[in-house]
Amino acid sequence: MPQIIDGKAISMQIKDELKEEVARMHEVGINPCLAVIQVGADPASCVYVRNKKKACAYIGIESRAFELGEETTQEELIALIQKLNSDEGVHGILVQLPVPKHIDEDKIIQSIAPEKDVDGFHPVSVGNLCIGEKGFVSCTPAGIIQLLKRSDIKIEGKECVVIGRSNIVGKPMSILLLRENGTVTICHSRTKNLAEVTRRADILIVAIGKKQLITKEYVKDGAVVIDVGMHRDENNKLCGDVDFEDVSEIVSAITPVPGGVGPMTIAMLMNNCVEAARK
Ligand code: NAP
Repeated sequence: MPQIIDGKAISMQIKDELKEEVARMHEVGINPCLAVIQVGADPASCVYVRNKKKACAYIGIESRAFELGEETTQEELIALIQKLNSDEGVHGILVQLPVPKHIDEDKIIQSIAPEKDVDGFHPVSVGNLCIGEKGFVSCTPAGIIQLLKRSDIKIEGKECVVIGRSNIVGKPMSILLLRENGTVTICHSRTKNLAEVTRRADILIVAIGKKQLITKEYVKDGAVVIDVGMHRDENNKLCGDVDFEDVSEIVSAITPVPGGVGPMTIAMLMNNCVEAARK
């Protein structure tokens, strides 16, 4: 049986550490506060926003909710962000994505002050990550590094293969693995002989967005497999980009879906909020 990397337990551990730190902050008059902006009422976004507010409440972070109508203009949204940028009582600003189609997502991300960019999506945050400076890191890849470290899985010197090159997962993931001294290969939809490349991986990170695509043909014996994907199977049960049952037969460690990467994303968002308040 492989080691099942328990994202639920590890994220809880992180949230409890943050809870203690926030209690200490409260004692010295610092009150970490996250502004959560949602435009429209996309059902998946409503669930994500609810979970983020719940995590804030658990840790002791104040969350200020801004629920804006679907018809909100880009100018109105940017005006709200600018107001929150200059509000000293707000440490982090999060705009739940996706925003409605008439709003330019990049413009919204760029209007958030980098020191309040707890999602780590602002070009300044991404630039800092690339050149090894301090700054906020995208929560899902940051959470994966924590999963590996807290499961005693060494990254240094390992062959790390990332499938996916999105701005929020694949690219920052690759840079973080490089920062941990992994040898990193990035695959995408134009990669030739994908299985040949992925079978080189000691650590395989899968962020493709294709239900259970990765079977054991893509994986080396004894590899560590991290599954970022999130889908519903034919029985409406959550599943990932990896065929868990099939791949589990040969790997040394693997994340389940649910209960793997998912809970870590929120834990790292909370970590970034506390960090913003600490600064
Ligand atoms: P995305 O923006 O759709 O990117 C998918 C990437 O996979 C792209 O780079 C694409 O290549 C590549 N790809 C697609 N089909 C491929 C194939 N057959 N072979 C090789 N590469 C292929 O997705 P994302 O935002 O990174 O998310 C990936 C998955 O993670 C989704 O299932 C999403 O729901 C999930 N997710 C989960 C969390 C969490 O907290 N658990 C957070 C974020 C995302 P090209 O660039 O060439 O198109």
